[in-house]
Amino acid sequence: NDQLENGLSGPSLMLDRVHCQFHGDSVVRDINLHLEAGEVVCLLGPSGCGKTTLLRIAAGLQVPSSGKVFLGRSLVSAPGGVQVPPEKRNVGLAFQESALFPHLTVLENVCFGISTLPKKQKQSRALDLLERLGMAGAANVYPHTLSGGQQQRVALARALAPSPRVMLLDEPFSSLDARLRDQIRDDTLHVLKELNTATLLVTHDPEEAMFMADRIALMRDGEIVQTGSPTELYCNPAEPFVVNFFGQVNEHVGIVHDGQVATPLGRLDASGFDEGANVRILIRPEAVKVTPLEGKVADDRTSHVIMSRLLGPTSLLHICAHGPDGQEMHLHAKVPGVFLPEEGQAVSLELDMSQVFLFEAETWR
Ligand code: ATP
Repeated sequence: NDQLENGLSGPSLMLDRVHCQFHGDSVVRDINLHLEAGEVVCLLGPSGCGKTTLLRIAAGLQVPSSGKVFLGRSLVSAPGGVQVPPEKRNVGLAFQESALFPHLTVLENVCFGISTLPKKQKQSRALDLLERLGMAGAANVYPHTLSGGQQQRVALARALAPSPRVMLLDEPFSSLDARLRDQIRDDTLHVLKELNTATLLVTHDPEEAMFMADRIALMRDGEIVQTGSPTELYCNPAEPFVVNFFGQVNEHVGIVHDGQVATPLGRLDASGFDEGANVRILIRPEAVKVTPLEGKVADDRTSHVIMSRLLGPTSLLHICAHGPDGQEMHLHAKVPGVFLPEEGQAVSLELDMSQVFLFEAETWR
């Protein structure tokens, strides 16, 4: 039924030109964002960019300075007008530290938010959610006997129990250690998709956003810089900020000449740029293909290895690249597997151009 209603009523959540100021400072600026039924959207961005404030506005915990918020067809927040309180919004909330009621068992905690069903059905729904999140065995224990990760699973089950139209999650996995986090993320994503629950997830971790999201909204200074699928943001970044946010990159500058820009790794196509334009060239470390030149002794005009380190699944190489015109560039290459050439090893270099991005220097930040 809810699915049908969602389908007929458009987005599950819509933020329309939402703005929020604290003491005269705008921390959220004219944000437009919508969530379709069943869609997981991640608000991603550095600390302090306004992610949590935006989530709190959607939840009704923060009143925006201007703009409107819709949940399904209902207007739940408008300037100087309607302001539906959080408990009446039909949203599920979970935070980094989700406090469970200490005096209630796990099952009672999860049942707590379901007000509409008879007791038997309440319990069977709660048990179903606990089962899906791998916690059915702990139904009758008290929260203090559980680990942090287990408590977080119960908190997610509790938030999902009333079948909210929208789940709002603020860094729900960030206090967990890496191994546990991966497993809980995986289980949570499965449950959200099985229940077709529209979800807004706040995170500062690009890998988490890429794993969880159908769409990512990447924020900086209260604004959304780019919205799109993880693949769109990673492979078609709108700005250098987007490239840099997904990991360290090699940066180089150049000038466009005859639709090309010269680098120590060869001439790159710059046909979309004006003649004479200054361009920033961003090269992901995994774009650099390194081939050892066996038997060749490196001299100071040959590209060579300065240092190599095994990171685990990849090897990181620090390379000094030499171009035909005597240009020199230091860069990092990330190569799959164990590949640890010795210091001074002469190499030839090639670029995977799908992971190299050119931007006009003016747009660089
Ligand atoms: P983090 O990842 O560190 O939680 P964030 O992207 O979620 O960051 P917000 O918590 O939304 O960012 O904060 C955005 C800015 O708004 C910050 O500069 C913060 O200090 C400020 N801020 C948030 N809430 C308030 C408040 N109630 N009063 C005053 N300033 C606030």
